[in-house]
Amino acid sequence: MRCVACKKEAKVKFIYAFCESCFIRHYEKRVRKLINKFKLIQRGDKILVAVSGGKDSLSCAEILASLRSIYKFKLAVLHIDVGVSTCTDFRTEEVIRSFCKERDIDFYIIRFKDFLGVDESVDIKELFKKTRRPICSTCGMLKRYLLNKFAREAGFNKIATGHCADDITKFFFKNWFSQNFDWIAKFKPFTPSSHPKIISRIRPLFECLEMENLAYVKFKNITIAGYSQCSYFLKKDKWDRLLKFIDEKRPDFKLNIVRGLEYIKIEVDKDRPLRECEICGEPTDRQVCSVCTFKERLSLK
Ligand code: SF4
Ligand code: ZN
Repeated sequence: MRCVACKKEAKVKFIYAFCESCFIRHYEKRVRKLINKFKLIQRGDKILVAVSGGKDSLSCAEILASLRSIYKFKLAVLHIDVGVSTCTDFRTEEVIRSFCKERDIDFYIIRFKDFLGVDESVDIKELFKKTRRPICSTCGMLKRYLLNKFAREAGFNKIATGHCADDITKFFFKNWFSQNFDWIAKFKPFTPSSHPKIISRIRPLFECLEMENLAYVKFKNITIAGYSQCSYFLKKDKWDRLLKFIDEKRPDFKLNIVRGLEYIKIEVDKDRPLRECEICGEPTDRQVCSVCTFKERLSLK
């Protein structure tokens, strides 16, 4: 197998075969093209990138770090320690801290346990089980809340995440089938703020495949954290099997789905405008936000 660019021996093949250096160049060029096309970064931006320690978020942080001198923006990393025993290990924080130190990026960390005011010995998974919500749904709700709150209070004007074409395709089908259209409408490379207290989101890896992110961190010698992936999400469900089946027939399937999503316009339900939670003041479409409701239900302060 030969690299399509330089004809040397290829190391990877997703849609096209590439050698190591041509793959890195091609990957970075595609991300830059998306950033320019959707004007994701402006001079003077203050961007906070959410990093779990996995291949996707570290690829995102790496590429943004390399673009600081070109686009002239400030970059910092936030890691949210979820405290769920099966989703994190003690090395994750150190891996991300070293990554940031080597690249001169400010590093911040928030822990669910601190926010919820629970003891270090508590396994957050057991705490989440006390609610009727699925664990990942509660975890996702808290992560979104803390990420937005932290970014705003620390003066960032954009939040970057490592969501890639695989996440977005699966997310699209799941939400389409449950007719959750306003969520789909938000999933674009750029989601502008919909409330003065909500920070805009950018997704620079929108058109990158999960396996490409893995190859990128490997070729760039970036250490990823052990349990940094969402372990419950890793359990393959029917959507994964279905998407894999289509993928085998059409390797460009996910890319075509996400490229289509970039242009699709969905009318969202504006009947429930955002207001401020009467307990914490964060934006919500209810009187009391879902995080305060969750805390009340568990009698947490
Ligand atoms: Fe949270 Fe991911 Fe673990 Fe689910 S799998 S509990 S979303 S960290
Ligand atoms: Zn609240």
